[in-house]
Amino acid sequence: MKQQLEIKNLSVKVEETEILKDLNLTLPRGEVHAIMGPNGTGKSTLAKALAAHPDYEITSGEVLLDGENVLEMEVDERARAGLFMAFQYPSEIPGVSIANFLRAATQARLAEDEELEATQFYKRLYEKMDMLQIDRKFTSRAINEGFSGGEKKRNEILQMAMLEPKYAIMDETDSGLDIDALRIVSEGVNKLRGPERGILLITHYQRILEYIVPDHVHVMWNGRIVKSRGKELALELEKRGYDWIKEEFAEPAAKA
Ligand code: ADP
Ligand code: MG
Repeated sequence: MKQQLEIKNLSVKVEETEILKDLNLTLPRGEVHAIMGPNGTGKSTLAKALAAHPDYEITSGEVLLDGENVLEMEVDERARAGLFMAFQYPSEIPGVSIANFLRAATQARLAEDEELEATQFYKRLYEKMDMLQIDRKFTSRAINEGFSGGEKKRNEILQMAMLEPKYAIMDETDSGLDIDALRIVSEGVNKLRGPERGILLITHYQRILEYIVPDHVHVMWNGRIVKSRGKELALELEKRGYDWIKEEFAEPAAKA
């Protein structure tokens, strides 16, 4: 069995419109892949479909996590199988502290008869926070309430560090970050890279890829992956923009 997240011929509809069309992508563990593409091309739709968001209807295709069929799993089963999502617009959870949230999330990943001990949990939490250089005060704050863009992202990275997923999908982790926050978040992601983990970074801009250097870059256009190459593709997109992709892959009707 191959240790990889395999997306095969995935088609997804949102409100009767087909957004993803026969999308194929393989993310092996140990690698970092980037998906780039113009706005509105379906990048977030892919992330949401993998997270089982109810507005996104999967009309065909398969997603295999180390050979297991992800699309048949409930949301919590997906997390337990090792899939992690960090979202473009994470929501606020008023009144729930980061520490309690992480504790519940960590507990949810254990088998039913396993109990997460408080001392053990905090030991691990503080280790991860030290690694990511996050202040201890941070954990008593409510999830995303009044967080800056940078703090939201750090919280996501901390979640990821605690859950140690096999595959992490990060949608626009760079959006709304100033250069310092971008560097801190990128360092965090780089610390979480490793042979046991595949990371899929979804981004519109090349900038974050200067800090998190991907093994492969995929370009999404019109609901499909239309180009896959090494990291140099990101630089080419930065220089040339997306228009040449649009021209090259325009539907025949749109081209005329
Ligand atoms: P990207 O992340 O690449 O910018 P999205 O996946 O957010 O693109 O959107 C792709 C297309 O799907 C857009 O045309 C968008 O308007 C549409 N879309 C996405 N989510 C919804 C939704 N919940 N309801 C209606 N249309 C949606
Ligand atoms: Mg998006």
